[in-house]
Amino acid sequence: MRRFVRLLFVVVLPALLFAQDFWVDLERLKDEISERGKQMEYVYGLTDDIGHRLTGSPGAEKAENAVVDWLKALGLENVRKEPFRMEARWSRGTASAQIMSPVSRALTVASYTWTPSTPGTGVQGHLVDGGTGKPEDIAAVKSRMRGAIVLVAPAGVTLDEVIGNFYRTPLYVEECAKAGALAVLIASDKERTLLYTAPVSFNAKISPVAALAIAREDVELLRRLLNRPAKPGSTSDVRIRVAVKNTVDSPFLANNVFGEIQGSEKSEEVILLGAHLDSNDLGPGALDNAAGCAALLETARAIKALGLQPKRTIRFVFFMGEEEGMIGSTEYVKRHLAEMDNFVTNITMDIGAGRPLGWFSMGRTDLDPEIRAFMESQLYHPDSVMIVNAAFAATDNAAFMAAGVPNLVLLQDDASYFPVHHTAADTPDKIVLEDFTACVTTVAMTAYLIASQEERFGRRLTQSEIEDMMNASKIEYQWRAANIWPLQ
Ligand SMILES: [Zn+2]
Repeated sequence: MRRFVRLLFVVVLPALLFAQDFWVDLERLKDEISERGKQMEYVYGLTDDIGHRLTGSPGAEKAENAVVDWLKALGLENVRKEPFRMEARWSRGTASAQIMSPVSRALTVASYTWTPSTPGTGVQGHLVDGGTGKPEDIAAVKSRMRGAIVLVAPAGVTLDEVIGNFYRTPLYVEECAKAGALAVLIASDKERTLLYTAPVSFNAKISPVAALAIAREDVELLRRLLNRPAKPGSTSDVRIRVAVKNTVDSPFLANNVFGEIQGSEKSEEVILLGAHLDSNDLGPGALDNAAGCAALLETARAIKALGLQPKRTIRFVFFMGEEEGMIGSTEYVKRHLAEMDNFVTNITMDIGAGRPLGWFSMGRTDLDPEIRAFMESQLYHPDSVMIVNAAFAATDNAAFMAAGVPNLVLLQDDASYFPVHHTAADTPDKIVLEDFTACVTTVAMTAYLIASQEERFGRRLTQSEIEDMMNASKIEYQWRAANIWPLQ
């Protein structure tokens, strides 16, 4: 009898009392992921087994199918693919560039996404230095661009600068093409000849001229040659030859993939946990963004393994087309626009696997107290202390932001991310398990907490509040360039 009473007080009663307390659930979730998490298995599955996942590639299709299989095996509900149209299918072929004079040298280059093939066997022209690609730099050398190869070296390494450069690329490439340039060489911002590429246009538009990443060591060489005084009797021209062969095929359907853990009480209210399944094609995209996808899969696995039941529905969405201009997530929001009142929060992970430092709240200072409250819980990583309100369109939260849905992007230590993202070196060995696991537990606990707490997290902004936020954060240009704004 005494043993029974003891059992009652020590085990049964607390279990009953706290069964509904989601703080206990959060602790169990954290332990499950930390001790038995399969996040690295999912990363290896997407990278080592499949490889790069550029939208429209065989790897992308394999990844879509693999996620469907994983979600079904985990027992999620409403697992499906939702197709959306991509206006063209681009595949990388070959790209080469050489200095023809005053010296003879091969250059290290790779096509930006949406770069066409060069005509015939290639193009050849004199080199023009387009500075950082800013309008004043381009304007200063425009008169010398006809028949030229233009070199651009965008400056800056901060997140703001990287995003600014990302949005400026299509503008200066188009300006150069209009002025008669034959190709544009864009300095890679990575070290030791590593090439970084990105889309040269939005919405699957083929670039008017070839745009190629070029290794920064080669940029230095080209600038030394350009700045050499001409030898008597010769010109100071540096001549470059560029030859590109890429494939552009007709429109096709790519698929966002999703599955749900349905809410037990307010199942119509949805917490969307999102990451992009596609990758750049120079490497297997381990940090960008197999890590984010693995965090979603592990969150789903751990919740299911523990038999936890959130009050609201958690929808796990794996977006395609992100690397080619956030196409999948924009299409998703446009298609589901009538349901956006039911979207409580969009949570996105897309800055690699470095330790969690807090959240980007994307223009929403009104969310600060609520974010602060759960960040201050003992369960969160001790370094998770920051809320950054800046709004920018650089990953799949962007269209949700334009729809007024509260959106959180995991703020992470990006020291391991920016040196390799969009390069051949974005491989699983860059992941530090302890840091990555802290990201996964943060994402999982936050999604579960928002899904299970009594009060609804934040609120959807009205149209005029969205416009105020857009004007205050100067994000309109980014939204328009990426075909996000206006949403209808
Ligand atoms: Zn990404």
